[in-house]
Amino acid sequence: MPPAPEAARPPAAPDDPVERAAIAAALARGATRGRLLEILLEVRDAKGGSGISEPGLRAVADRLGLFPSEAYEVATAFPAVNYATARPYATGERCGDLVCALLHGAGGTGVCRNRCDGERPQPAPRGFAAYRAAGGYAMAGRLMADPAAAAEVLGRIDAHQAVGRAGVGFPVAEKWRQVMAAEGTPVVIVNGDEGELAIFKDRFILENEPHGVIEAALVAARTVGADRVFLYVRDDYAPIHAILRRALEEVAAAGLAEGLALELRRSGGAFICGEETALIASLEGRPARPAERPPFPTARGYLGRPTLLHNVETFYRITAAWGGAPGAPAAALLHPETRLHSVSGRVRAPGPKPVRRLARLADLVEIAGGMAEGHALGGMVIGGSSGTLVTADDCRRPLAELLAAGLRLGTGGAIVLGAADDPRAVAARMAAYLARESCGQCGPCRVGTAKAAQALAGAGALDRPLLDDLATVMGEASLCALGRNAGRFLGRLSTLADPTP
Ligand code: SF4
Repeated sequence: MPPAPEAARPPAAPDDPVERAAIAAALARGATRGRLLEILLEVRDAKGGSGISEPGLRAVADRLGLFPSEAYEVATAFPAVNYATARPYATGERCGDLVCALLHGAGGTGVCRNRCDGERPQPAPRGFAAYRAAGGYAMAGRLMADPAAAAEVLGRIDAHQAVGRAGVGFPVAEKWRQVMAAEGTPVVIVNGDEGELAIFKDRFILENEPHGVIEAALVAARTVGADRVFLYVRDDYAPIHAILRRALEEVAAAGLAEGLALELRRSGGAFICGEETALIASLEGRPARPAERPPFPTARGYLGRPTLLHNVETFYRITAAWGGAPGAPAAALLHPETRLHSVSGRVRAPGPKPVRRLARLADLVEIAGGMAEGHALGGMVIGGSSGTLVTADDCRRPLAELLAAGLRLGTGGAIVLGAADDPRAVAARMAAYLARESCGQCGPCRVGTAKAAQALAGAGALDRPLLDDLATVMGEASLCALGRNAGRFLGRLSTLADPTP
């Protein structure tokens, strides 16, 4: 199926009308690539100094014909643009993150996952010396001295029953064996793209334990016989890029990377870049579009070579199989029953919350410091950008009942809504996000996400037969998980009430 023409997809658009007008005015004065910085400054001034939002930046990048990553490169070096999460935000300043916009809108109040109220601390990763002193890199070192230890590593991962943490739960050791059995020299990829709405668990792990992730990638590379390791990290995790660059230099200086090419890559800046085949295309320098499977990347991935790809959480967790070098706060994740929930929205203390055996979704609110002032629990969005809207009553039911009824926790995201938040408006924003992020390659997703966004944005009664039809077609006929999961999301909107006449 040929790719959709760009014009068929809804353009990125910031929510703030002042920002929209400022962007339009700035672009009208000249829309050349060299004007990017100038345009950013003009928008910042028009907004009273608070900087351009992420959708705003994308809109500008689109018009100037820049990749979002190119625009980020300029914007993150520009102090007033603050969505790159390292810098403390000024009081009242908003980061432009989708979750922030989802709940707060223009000029709203509250806290978001980036703590753009100014309270988010700077990352303080455990350094190389401390990690090594706790026993870190012992297994990576052993494999360098004795390649036959690979069999022991696989045996330990088998015994640990480690599974992938990207949602499917495929056994890790089985995937490694598939890569080893394929023809050609393998490549290892750490997927740190984490483009899912309201998920920030990989960020948490990389900000605290970069060496745990790197050691796991080295062990994987030595075990499967790879000669190249990529760390592919979300474009707007700028501080993490700096952390990883330093960590990789330390590893190389210690001689632990001998015979391996270790490379840090910035993602292409789109949600779809986290899908494994799209990620591989992006690494190869092609547009990030998902591909049909088979062949699976384990057999034919990066440049046709067998490719072992896991997300950051999966790599970090497998260090438990050989004892690792546990260090707080991420060490809680090394217990197989611990799930890392990314809690954001109307709570006092949003953030990553490691939890063992969650009894009710409402317990996440308590774990996140209770409801934000002036808000009562109104429900949650569970599971990311194509997740499920759950009512407040359901949040108080035993989680086991919800799971038995088909709820999926996905990658553990929970956006807590207040009783005054309009679930339909939230669903409309999510649908608009999916429409914007669809790569446009296949019809069910390209047309379906746009139609769903249109249907949910209207003020009248919901066209439920249309949403049900879209859910079925997208769920069954989309090429990749973005379209299929968007279909699931539409199919679970039965709790949405029509507006009162
Ligand atoms: Fe692209 Fe959507 Fe098709 Fe996935 S389902 S390939 S995101 S158009």
